[in-house]
Amino acid sequence: MAERSLTLMAVHAHPDDEATSTGGILARYAAEGVTTVLVTCTDGRCGDGPGGVKPGDDGHDPQAVVAMRQAELVASCEALKVTHLETLDYADSGMMGWATNDAPGAFWNTPVAEAADRLAELIRRYRPDVVVTYDENGFYGHPDHIQAHRITMAAVERTGIPAKVYWTTVPQSAFQEFGKVMQEIGVEFPEPDAADEMPALGLPDDEITTWVDTRAQGGQKFASLAAHASQAENIFFLRLGEERFTELMGMETFVRVRDSTGAPTPEDDLFAGLR
Ligand SMILES: [Zn+2]
Repeated sequence: MAERSLTLMAVHAHPDDEATSTGGILARYAAEGVTTVLVTCTDGRCGDGPGGVKPGDDGHDPQAVVAMRQAELVASCEALKVTHLETLDYADSGMMGWATNDAPGAFWNTPVAEAADRLAELIRRYRPDVVVTYDENGFYGHPDHIQAHRITMAAVERTGIPAKVYWTTVPQSAFQEFGKVMQEIGVEFPEPDAADEMPALGLPDDEITTWVDTRAQGGQKFASLAAHASQAENIFFLRLGEERFTELMGMETFVRVRDSTGAPTPEDDLFAGLR
């Protein structure tokens, strides 16, 4: 009997989120013959429109943004050789506090149980061994990222299928280098008092369970990010160029929150204990 291939599922909030924190693992594991499934929960309608028109400004047509971003998402998946793309097509909720949070069909406005049902159906269909999503703060507090976390954990609970579940994270030791690079490419950060309201980003290095070297996939990861050209103004990393981007972002890091394999940590492979 032919052995079933290993399967990785990444659950993300918006078109373009797949690239930054999981582009490397999606490309690397696809190259190893793993089935890769990307689930994108929202349609990205609160992104920039054609010509860089900002959401809420005159001429920002959500439907046109959705169509453009869907095509970019498909191109990004081609760059990463993602085997299956699934979109849940909830309306992008926009940043915390925007009126779009409460719009009909907004992801943030959708009961967790309802969206988790749809994700659970995908988990039953693909039977992923490994599921990756965000931490409970959605890494940086965006409502759609928080909601993606909530529905994923609910769907995992409901199905009990994945052997391992991970949240994306960044080692706190990397922040100094990030800060330097951001300054160099002219990105300004909010004043510290605004940042005080947010839980700390990332994790101390010794709390990170899983370090996956994806430097060999740097070109694919950069191409995946570059496929989201309509959002380029918000994608600071594109300004680094492929080589420096790979130096900075080539190691993808995770915290393992569910495991039935007993694989020792720290580990350097999401499928440790499953091969
Ligand atoms: Zn996002």
